[in-house]
Amino acid sequence: MPETLIAIDDLVVEYFTLRGPLRAVDSASLTINQGEILGIVGESGSGKSTLAQAVLRILPPQARIVRGSITYRGRDLAKMSEGELKKIRWKEISMVPQAALNALNPTLRIRDHFIETAKAHGVADKRGVIEKASELLEQVRLDPKRVLSSYPHELSGGMKQRVLIALSLLLDPQIVILDEPTTALDVLTQRFILDLLKELKERLGITMVFITHDIAVIADIADRVAVMYAGQVVEVGNVFDVFYEPLHPYTRLLIKSVPGLKGDIEDMRPIPGSPPDMFNPPEGCRFHPRCPWKFEPCDRFDPSLVKLGDGRIVSCHLYTDKRAG
Ligand code: SF4
Repeated sequence: MPETLIAIDDLVVEYFTLRGPLRAVDSASLTINQGEILGIVGESGSGKSTLAQAVLRILPPQARIVRGSITYRGRDLAKMSEGELKKIRWKEISMVPQAALNALNPTLRIRDHFIETAKAHGVADKRGVIEKASELLEQVRLDPKRVLSSYPHELSGGMKQRVLIALSLLLDPQIVILDEPTTALDVLTQRFILDLLKELKERLGITMVFITHDIAVIADIADRVAVMYAGQVVEVGNVFDVFYEPLHPYTRLLIKSVPGLKGDIEDMRPIPGSPPDMFNPPEGCRFHPRCPWKFEPCDRFDPSLVKLGDGRIVSCHLYTDKRAG
């Protein structure tokens, strides 16, 4: 069994807004295991980015962790002081944020991004940082000489994304969280970045969390997948198991909604309905207004997470009598 690096248990994250609290992550439980690429997939607004931000405690000011734990090496990140977290961020767990292509400062050369990032984490040896940056840029197949002296606007989208990946590896983290890292890229560049990430994972032995709305990308890159719907983790499993035998109705429909993943393009079907209003989610299972399999308890009782063995976890009343062991 691979070692569990991070165990998220019963995590609840709320945004405090003028309309009242919005529960963006609701009772999420999930592990991130040593050496894997864990894919987190779900529609926009399903809570996947909030979940990732909660792990690093980089939530926006109006968001709070209101319940649950995030255990990393025996310590709860959810309760750690800011000083302790600073020692972990970037050095042990780093993140390439969503919309990262705009994350580079247009007034700084790429070399200064590396120097400033290192400085912010207590590393002042500029020469050492540039040497390390050059190595990393080579690893992501960029020409360090050219790229380090460039401004962001002189680089293509794919090059900027590779710079950000190199930057996230600067302090040798064990875990890298990538939030929608290929979304703004053309198909060929996306393919190149996915292959590169797989190669880096093997070569450097790092653990990755890959967040995306695109289940086809997950099929390509992830070892395990967690499916999120309306703030909840509804299914977790080995990527092959989940794709060949999806259990949760949302996962089944999500896979059917993508051309070429399974079956013919004629079989492709959009998921009926739309995601719920998160200020006023439906009673019972949040997916029940869209679920073709719904039955008597679904609109009254929230299903709990059911462990089915082999790491398969599903939250659906169809499986409540099929627990492992
Ligand atoms: Fe569908 Fe019921 Fe399962 Fe929800 S609990 S996904 S409504 S069958």
